[in-house]
Amino acid sequence: MEKNYYLELIQSTFSTLLLDAIQYFPENSKKVHYESSGLLFGVESGEQMECDYVFPVGSVEKRTSSSILTNPKVDQALKSSRQLFSTSTFIGTYHSHPYEEYFPDWCCPSNADVLYSLNNKFPYEVIIAMTRNSMEDKPLTIEFYEGEGYEYIHNSKREGNSAPDLKKLGYKTAYLIGEFQKYKFEIRAFQFTGKSLIDIDLESSEAELLSLLQQEEIHLNEIDQKDISRLRKMEYNLRTKQANEKSESNLQYHLSKLKVNS
Ligand SMILES: [Zn+2]
Repeated sequence: MEKNYYLELIQSTFSTLLLDAIQYFPENSKKVHYESSGLLFGVESGEQMECDYVFPVGSVEKRTSSSILTNPKVDQALKSSRQLFSTSTFIGTYHSHPYEEYFPDWCCPSNADVLYSLNNKFPYEVIIAMTRNSMEDKPLTIEFYEGEGYEYIHNSKREGNSAPDLKKLGYKTAYLIGEFQKYKFEIRAFQFTGKSLIDIDLESSEAELLSLLQQEEIHLNEIDQKDISRLRKMEYNLRTKQANEKSESNLQYHLSKLKVNS
């Protein structure tokens, strides 16, 4: 299989995912087995999937038992959205992995997650793993990483909450790790192949924008309302699909204006 696809979180989809996972982070993640979940909408163009809207469905039961093949709340929201949304199409679902502490594979699909995909056949799944690792609020920091890509294959002999069978893809895929307020998080994107889930690159123009503002020490709460349209233009110029010299110079232009005004 070739490395082709990536999923990019554009507009306000990255921040919505993050806020949703924080909002439903359980007070006691050891005892409370609930996670946040929602729908992803986007536009596909060639080998690029731009996710431009996410619709949080709320807190749902964890997919730990292999009996959770579908989720009624998600199904109902999907049914309604199909009758209303016209500017983007449904591309899949997302869900959070709230944990007591960080561990290396915390953001990978569980055996039950793969079974859920086999049953629903949604094209993409985004997972946001999260832990509360701080007593005090921290500003947002984001870093993009690359790691060994895997294929996740359902193993019917194993429990839902255990790992599925893994197969190396032979190439690396990108994901995102960050911290915000009291939390550490990681976001990964997966594509449904028809028989398994595979790692694909997760990109985000919105996360790039936020991380650029952070580097330049421009604080969101100090930005003048009249400059919000600049942020929108910058986010557009940061999309992977837009990468060219013109978008880079546009970006630098708006950034210099922001610096003057802030
Ligand atoms: Zn999961």
